[in-house]
Amino acid sequence: MDLNLNRPILVAGAGFAGSVLARCLSEKGYKVIVIDSRSHVAGNAYDEINDLGIRVHRYGPHLFHTNNMKVVEWLSRFTEWLPYEHRVSALLPSGKMAPLPINRRTLELVFGKSLANEEEAKALLASVARPMPEVRNARDYLLSQIGEDLTDLFFAPYTRKMWGYDLSEMDASVVKRIPISYDDEDRYFPHDGFQAVPKDGYTRLIENVLDHSSIDVYLSRPFEREMLNEFDHAFLCLPIDEFFCYSLGPLPYRSIRFHHASIDRAQVRTKAATVNRTDNSEITRSTYWHLLPGHDLKNSSQVTVTSEEPCSYEDNGYERYYPIKTSDDRFGERYRQYVKMAQAEPKVTFIGRCGTYQYLDMHQVVSQTIAIATRWIEARA
Ligand code: UDP
Repeated sequence: MDLNLNRPILVAGAGFAGSVLARCLSEKGYKVIVIDSRSHVAGNAYDEINDLGIRVHRYGPHLFHTNNMKVVEWLSRFTEWLPYEHRVSALLPSGKMAPLPINRRTLELVFGKSLANEEEAKALLASVARPMPEVRNARDYLLSQIGEDLTDLFFAPYTRKMWGYDLSEMDASVVKRIPISYDDEDRYFPHDGFQAVPKDGYTRLIENVLDHSSIDVYLSRPFEREMLNEFDHAFLCLPIDEFFCYSLGPLPYRSIRFHHASIDRAQVRTKAATVNRTDNSEITRSTYWHLLPGHDLKNSSQVTVTSEEPCSYEDNGYERYYPIKTSDDRFGERYRQYVKMAQAEPKVTFIGRCGTYQYLDMHQVVSQTIAIATRWIEARA
């Protein structure tokens, strides 16, 4: 093995989770090796500048938003930020564009009536909502909040193509990510006090996190079980089911095929950086990168748009993006069985979206990972 074995801690995965973990440990005097099977750091947050001078997030849009100022403070050691409040337009099957999350203007557009204020918007939603004695799944939740027409227009086909499951099979938490506004609020994350993108991109941010004399990074180095013999402890961002050779069955992930295209700048009609397609096409959303701050470096006549086509991870080279949370939580149950198996492996800790089989945003990954590192260090003190 050509890894530097004077470093007793192995971290497999150089995305947010692995990099934050490595940094926390190195700052407490531990020597750490970080490996990644990909040829780059930053995991799924990886971004790069293309020939048009457009910063493209290779694995889909990463928009940082949080109320956790401790996480912001921690990350701000490694990046400056450009304030950015994300907005999304939904392209309806009729060809109309409507603001998403649903707000007063969305309701006016869909129901074709004018609503003078928040109260009238609330009253309209109350008249179409179907209160439920028990919310069993994502469909129940939406029906209880916005009724059948809006659910079927904005959420049913999109969720089907996004997850490969109907709304009624998905957990309510999946759609609860999208708030409902009654006024003209049109930001995608209205409840988060800090919204920004890293000034020089996520790749640079993660490179800075990993830039420590006690961290060695090896890229294009997949994890191998034998490596465990060489280290005192291993933190693994890899899928826990793969580690245990799928012995309890697979933990499914939704994957995405990204289609990057160049179009004339003058052709772009949207002001919102992301357009969601609520129809039955294969594509869920398209992101116009030049509309994000710090993403349009050359002002070329052409710009890049990336469209997302969800698919199963088996059909996409085992690229795992989204853990699937169904309403019966059958995969969560399987995951917890794997966790029990992992408890018999004292030298191994699973971290990150894949390691913990959780649908986590970046700030949650950072805060969870800092907590895991702190507990691990304290347990050894
Ligand atoms: N969703 C939908 N229609 C939309 C946007 C979202 O049905 O236009 C549902 C869908 O199930 C999606 C979930 O809400 O997976 C969460 O959306 P979000 O935009 O948070 O997804 P992410 O950005 O994590 O891919």
